[in-house]
Amino acid sequence: MGAALYGGWPLWFAGQPPMGDAGAEVPAIADMADNAAASEPDAVVERPALDHVVTARRGDTLIDILTRAGVHRREAHEVASALRPVYDPRKLGAGDMVTLTFTDGTDPKAAGELVILRLDAAYDREAGVRRGADGSFAAFAVDKAIDFRLARTSGTIRSSLYADGVAAGVPAKVMAAMIRLFSYDVDFQRDLQPGDRFDILFERHFAADETPVRDGEIVYAALTLGGNPIGLYRYDGPGGDLDYYTRSGDSVRKTLLRTPIDGARLSSGFGMRAHPILGFSVMHKGVDFAAPAGTPIYAAGDGVVEVAGSQGTYGNIVRIRHANGVATAYGHMNSFARGLQRGLAVKQGQVIGTVGTTGRSTGPHLHYEVLKAGHQVNPLSVQMQAGRKLMGRERDRFRAQCHDLDRLLQDLPARINVALGR
Ligand SMILES: [Zn+2]
Repeated sequence: MGAALYGGWPLWFAGQPPMGDAGAEVPAIADMADNAAASEPDAVVERPALDHVVTARRGDTLIDILTRAGVHRREAHEVASALRPVYDPRKLGAGDMVTLTFTDGTDPKAAGELVILRLDAAYDREAGVRRGADGSFAAFAVDKAIDFRLARTSGTIRSSLYADGVAAGVPAKVMAAMIRLFSYDVDFQRDLQPGDRFDILFERHFAADETPVRDGEIVYAALTLGGNPIGLYRYDGPGGDLDYYTRSGDSVRKTLLRTPIDGARLSSGFGMRAHPILGFSVMHKGVDFAAPAGTPIYAAGDGVVEVAGSQGTYGNIVRIRHANGVATAYGHMNSFARGLQRGLAVKQGQVIGTVGTTGRSTGPHLHYEVLKAGHQVNPLSVQMQAGRKLMGRERDRFRAQCHDLDRLLQDLPARINVALGR
């Protein structure tokens, strides 16, 4: 087993990750149950304390659940108020699970005495109440044994980045986040070619039973398009601001998105040479994104809505005015976002409406135009104002972090979960 450092955390990889290590540090609930029941070991074997798992139904209160399980109503109220310091029983929702431990018997309704109630107060925290020797209930809370790991997945793009990433085991939400990150630089309809590659390193949190309980942030993501790699590294600024930068310290953010649409839902541009996957040309002064009707369209940059209405061959169109005489237009829309109207200020990435086929259009697609001084121009010709650039000591810190990460990536197999011992 080898160890490396990433962001100050020891990383264990190569071979079996030390799973279950964290579990030993957490007080075992089963032990507490035995202690609370104060049973002799022999008696436990004969009459085991019974864990009774109840799932809350719609509209259930904690009192409902307890009384249904045979707990006396007065005692149920005692339990609920004892629990309050560590968990607000009003937060209990349909589907939440409550584990009740009774002293004896296989049937909780058969005079068994409630000794422990426990439930998940958060994905990484268990809370509950335990009956003491004097019969009263006291609250407890334990951090659950959550394994923080980094997962790496890389592969070849065969149909679309989203589909291939998800097929390779990357959670859909993480894949969508990766596409959003690259939407500043990549035209997901035209720039991807079969044989291009992706590589992603992201955080995953696992419960002791190996269930993934939460997907965290992307730590590193790369696309290799036509042999050119673009790598994006997460950087946590001293002020707690998290953002993504190229290795040279340039923020990934640009004034306009190159893919102003939910890239996860774009039709693949592969193998469609027979189809007009239209880019900018003399004949076609915009860029088309073919996607199912209803796919969200994003404002390509911060700006103010100039037009939101129906206009001849464009059908339903939105035009947004940005800084420096640049505007963007979105045609053939199915619908506008609620409240979208002339004069409204919009933020980059904000949903302004959905893909449709209104106006002169043969199928659902977004017709996207970039205008300078009122004239359509090739989006690639527009000088993008770069985002933040890391400078000075911050840049040094970032560089050191990239260096650690590069070394780690060199040693990591293309698909692995890495345990983070922290
Ligand atoms: Zn078009």
